[in-house]
Amino acid sequence: MEEKEKIKKRMNDLYKLINYYDQKYYIENNPVISDEEYDRLIHELSALEEKYPEFSRQDSPTKRIGGKPIEEFKSVKHERPMLSIDNTYNEEELREFDRRIKRALGRAVEYFLELKIDGVAVSLVYERGLLTKGASRGDGFIGDDITENVKTIRDIPLITPINEKFEVRGEVYMSKFDFERLNREKTNLGEEPFANPRNATAGSLKLLNPKEVAKRRLRFFVYGGFFEKNPPTQEEVLEFLKNLGFPVNPVRRKARSIEEAIEFCKEWEIKRNQLTYSIDGVVIKVNSIRDQEILGYTSKSPRWAVAYKFPAEQATTTIKDVIVQVGRTGTLTPVAILEPVHLAGTTVSRASLHNFDEIARLDVKIGDRVFVEKAGEIIPKVVKVIKETRTGKEKEVIPPEKCPECGSNVVKDADEVAYRCPNVSCPAQIKERILHFASRRAMNIQGLGEKIINVLVDRGLVKDYADLYSINPEQLERIERMGKVSSRKLVENIQASKNIPLQNLIYALGIRYIGERASEVLAENFTSIDEIKDADEKTLANINEIGPVAARSIKEFFNNPRNLELIQRLKRAGITTEQKELTRSEGKLSGIKFVITGTLKNYTREEMKTQLKRLGARVSENISKDTNFLIAGENPGTKLERAKKLGIKIISEDEVLKMIQ
Ligand SMILES: [Zn+2]
Repeated sequence: MEEKEKIKKRMNDLYKLINYYDQKYYIENNPVISDEEYDRLIHELSALEEKYPEFSRQDSPTKRIGGKPIEEFKSVKHERPMLSIDNTYNEEELREFDRRIKRALGRAVEYFLELKIDGVAVSLVYERGLLTKGASRGDGFIGDDITENVKTIRDIPLITPINEKFEVRGEVYMSKFDFERLNREKTNLGEEPFANPRNATAGSLKLLNPKEVAKRRLRFFVYGGFFEKNPPTQEEVLEFLKNLGFPVNPVRRKARSIEEAIEFCKEWEIKRNQLTYSIDGVVIKVNSIRDQEILGYTSKSPRWAVAYKFPAEQATTTIKDVIVQVGRTGTLTPVAILEPVHLAGTTVSRASLHNFDEIARLDVKIGDRVFVEKAGEIIPKVVKVIKETRTGKEKEVIPPEKCPECGSNVVKDADEVAYRCPNVSCPAQIKERILHFASRRAMNIQGLGEKIINVLVDRGLVKDYADLYSINPEQLERIERMGKVSSRKLVENIQASKNIPLQNLIYALGIRYIGERASEVLAENFTSIDEIKDADEKTLANINEIGPVAARSIKEFFNNPRNLELIQRLKRAGITTEQKELTRSEGKLSGIKFVITGTLKNYTREEMKTQLKRLGARVSENISKDTNFLIAGENPGTKLERAKKLGIKIISEDEVLKMIQ
């Protein structure tokens, strides 16, 4: 008896544990154990369930691992046709939809707005509280019976608390994370990757072996339900489904007018890339179920709903050529020249191929038909080659042996995938460095674009970015289409950039791996370029969000005498290389410089920093002569020694808190 109690307890623990890991994986996108460990728990539970069926549960996670493979899918007739929703592509069509509704009902209505998940629609039928049927849309009237496959989807409840027979509809999808994982696995096995998460989802649901489907980690969002007695609005239908245990997308709301709905569409067209799954639009439904019934259906679609489709982020086109661009650090980047194609609202004629490893991975050839994708990035990328359309005339892409700009022999660092031009005086590199230096997020020099920089470098007027500050208007006037006025204006703009905030200057220097965010972090931790230069690699690497790779790159940059000279020349030209003091007048701690070491009791170091800075204090990573206080927590580092040596006042966390209050 006691033995049995123990087993029952272990099984209960396993249910809880597995549910916890599922929650981490599926809800928080944050897996905390490996797939192997997870499988081991499932196997243990499944073995116990077989031996002790009296303790097993109907909603056990073992029901999700998939049954036996099947020969083919049976057809299943939908009880209600699964119609598709009309698509619209612009605001005017949405207003027209609204006018039609008003004409038909003789009054305005409230709408309900939901994200259009880019997945595969399925119908699920429940009887006596159990999931009994899962079906694909098919032609809308007859679909495939995919019950065993949908049971593997952890978001879909296997049991529900109500007994009546009902049907729900929703979208099966794959998260971006799982899509990338799957494609990595496929390419590692030498198989074709999927073009996008929707294709991957559709392909997974069509697998005849449910065990394989289970490994794909498909997800589900419900968007509708049919009950004996429906709640009065779409909003309440979803709320009801949520209470039954179905996953409802949290982004949803009512709109009192079509204009409000349009605003929501615009908002999510921009924010779509922040989501962990793909969406391709917004669905706008008449909220009242009674109104929906009055409006009814055409032969193809409901009259009470419309989908606003975002501009497509993927398109197919042909690669006409692959050229090689030289970046500011000498990196050679292959770029595909495309047959121009319409994509996400713009015409695209180039796509990034990242590096030659990527070309090999995708097996890209000149002349190939390819999928290009633009998902938030400025430059679209090639995601997949359509090999079926190859004619045999496609040409291999070969990494160049010489830099296309200066003819230097190309090098490849052993630990990096990129080929590089090693010549720091390579005109292409100089141009890119200056272009980066002048860019908006860096020194923000208006009017200094690619064309002028090309001329300045080609004529030898500028060899590096420090040279910019000695240009005079007369030199610029000799450039084609540069008048007196614009020449003077450009020189003024160059001079005006001298007082840029420290973080912009750090970014402008063009240190490898130091992007905008890292520059911001460095400016928060150091008060001048010199301080960063003097910081040791370990201090840099220990800063949150900097890390060892960037730290080494910073040290390499400042160890190079050419760069030190460059900075000296920037200083001589009058460029501010120190942090301007913040809130000098208001802050209680204005002008006081703190350094923190060790672990604090009540706050993290970041939190403490933020508090001090809010009061106008400066907080640095490095002890120097002008440090006023070292805040020492538990297990202080070498900073304590250094502070003692320099005679800097050492205070405890409690003392700081007193100062703050
Ligand atoms: Zn070169």
